[in-house]
Amino acid sequence: MVSDALICAKAAQLREDFGISPDGPIGDIRALIQKQGYLYTETRLPDGCSGESKINANGNYCITYNNTLSFGENYLRFTLAHELGHFALHYDYLQGENSHLSRVEFNSKSEIEREADRFAIHFLAPAESFIKEMQHRDYSRETISHLSNFFGISIHATIRHFMDYTDLACSLIVCNENFEIEYEHRSEKMNATYKMPFLNGKLLGSTYAYECIKNSKEVDNSELMLSDWYENFPHKIGATESVIRLAYNGKFLAMVTPNYSDLNMYLEESGY
Ligand SMILES: [Zn+2]
Repeated sequence: MVSDALICAKAAQLREDFGISPDGPIGDIRALIQKQGYLYTETRLPDGCSGESKINANGNYCITYNNTLSFGENYLRFTLAHELGHFALHYDYLQGENSHLSRVEFNSKSEIEREADRFAIHFLAPAESFIKEMQHRDYSRETISHLSNFFGISIHATIRHFMDYTDLACSLIVCNENFEIEYEHRSEKMNATYKMPFLNGKLLGSTYAYECIKNSKEVDNSELMLSDWYENFPHKIGATESVIRLAYNGKFLAMVTPNYSDLNMYLEESGY
């Protein structure tokens, strides 16, 4: 396993090697990789695949994007940066295998896929400039959409990056069309506040995510109680929930954040 610190350092190194500034958004990534001598192609790849990286017989680095996908420019940018991550982190593997197909899935079970995803985030949105841009912003759809557009990274990656650096209590719950929770990710503060096991299994009917999946829609910053998500939460704490429907894989992202005055009162009462 490659550590996050090393992934971060490799991403910074590649920006330097490419002659781009250590912070701030990256412009046209297609043009950038071609300028660096990578052979870039857009063509049809097998279903469920987003991109491919390989080293050809002449030793050239080749990156392919699956042009049958219609998930938008930010998804393409993320995929290309992910493939760059494979060259930076998994060179030996690519040399041995000579070809790697990346899956559409974000947060895949495959270790090298997750590492390449982490690389892509650090490459496209370096921590320092990301933190500067997210300062004084709440955990909401507007914030995520702003950061996603500013850095040109996918919504899912933006939320994960935000949660890595925020001092807010907040949670991301990834659900699918079968009303199942695929995984929950908590910010550090949320983790410290709510120490129960991570959400899993079936979605509760009291959540907006349930309603959104039922009606195939999204919902913007709606109010509910934290216990609508966390049944065992002992106090009545208000919360905000936003739901974003991803363009791929039938996934819904629920963003849940407690009301801060309610939460602080709870923390005081419980002796934090
Ligand atoms: Zn991959």
